[in-house]
Amino acid sequence: MSHVFPRHCNATLPTATAGDGCFLIDQDGKRYFDGSGGAAVSCLGHSNARVRDAVKAQVDQMAFAHTSFFTSDPAEQLADLLIEHAPGDLDRVYFVSGGSEAVESAIKLARQFHLENGEPARKHLIARRQSYHGNTIGALSAGGNAWRRQQFAPLLVEMSHIAPCYEYAERPEGESLEDYGQRTANELEAEILRLGPETVMAFIAEPVVGATLGAVPAVPGYFKRIREICDQYGVLLILDEVMCGMGRTGHLYACEADGIAPDILTIAKGLGAGYQPIGAMLCTSQIYNTIAQGTGFFQHGHTYIGHPVAAAAGLAVVQEILENDLIPQVKARGTYLQQQLEARLGQHPHVGDIRGRGLFRGVELVADRDSKTPFDPKYGVAAKIKKAAFAEGLICYPMPGARDGRVGDHILLAPPFIASEAELSGLVDMLATAIDKVL
Ligand code: PLP
Repeated sequence: MSHVFPRHCNATLPTATAGDGCFLIDQDGKRYFDGSGGAAVSCLGHSNARVRDAVKAQVDQMAFAHTSFFTSDPAEQLADLLIEHAPGDLDRVYFVSGGSEAVESAIKLARQFHLENGEPARKHLIARRQSYHGNTIGALSAGGNAWRRQQFAPLLVEMSHIAPCYEYAERPEGESLEDYGQRTANELEAEILRLGPETVMAFIAEPVVGATLGAVPAVPGYFKRIREICDQYGVLLILDEVMCGMGRTGHLYACEADGIAPDILTIAKGLGAGYQPIGAMLCTSQIYNTIAQGTGFFQHGHTYIGHPVAAAAGLAVVQEILENDLIPQVKARGTYLQQQLEARLGQHPHVGDIRGRGLFRGVELVADRDSKTPFDPKYGVAAKIKKAAFAEGLICYPMPGARDGRVGDHILLAPPFIASEAELSGLVDMLATAIDKVL
């Protein structure tokens, strides 16, 4: 009997014993194509020599030095590289161990900034419905996914949630894309005015919504308007790129495609690419300097912040992405993947939408294409497709439809950046077979 407490208590899982490029291999030698990079993590596949060597070398040289006493070369070098390529005025990097920690740090930094900037009344965080920002209490409070919040509702901090920018489901017929984007963004202004502008601390959103909507970018103009509103009312803009950042969408930072820069940005998943647990929060020099010249101490921290081995892995990952020109490759292969998905599934009676950017794609499943009616979440359509795909040898990431809005079941795809066209077309074959078996 196993003593591990697994995610799904009653599931019998194979044991992963090896990684080979885009594949994971189990104890019986069965190979699984990692079509979702786990959950958008394994952007370099499972056997990258440069990252493995960097991790081993750092362990050999110096495994851990607490950040109360020391900085380390890999943390310094990784921060320099991230900032060299970062948008806008982002200038400082705070390293953590994963996505939820990065979001918690961002929320607390926003609060402390306003406090030290002489605006202690600013305490409200505005987020969006059907969003996911992590599972710790603060990050879960920010998240707007009813399914994940339900059981913990009494523990959550009260935060506001406005509409996501989800044009497939929520743009009425006859409204232009531009008008839809402006109208949806203006919900932020309305909420700021309702709460009282002097009390609003920050707005948080994912540039491309991952886990909860299935690779949904905003329509053009939406984030420009969001940026304007934040500037007008002195509200910090936090962009959560934990899933969509680090090259996944065909830009190192996903917000580049929207032509804006945030005040605080979170990354994780693809930063360590699965070789080490690492996340980070980037902030502007204005935010950093306010605290540095104020109390001089960010009232936050975890034992493993700036872990040298994790930073060494992150540094090797970002170098690999940049030096091997993987970002243009993600763009090209992403277009190829979209075409293959449309060719195989575009006419399927239960596929409502295929969308995304780069190698970050979502397939939304519907009971009826014309009315875009989702399946009742209780049928667990996405979970059944995940199971059928796994039997075919494909790892994909399912999400049930949301009960608090018109969001269908969907499958998220986030294959490694190194996947070949042949491998991507194999992914689409396996997914189409799985969908046909279930629907
Ligand atoms: N933010 C976003 C956008 C995510 O997708 C996730 C995880 O899926 C998180 C935060 C939380 O990251 P982690 O699971 O590393 O804590």
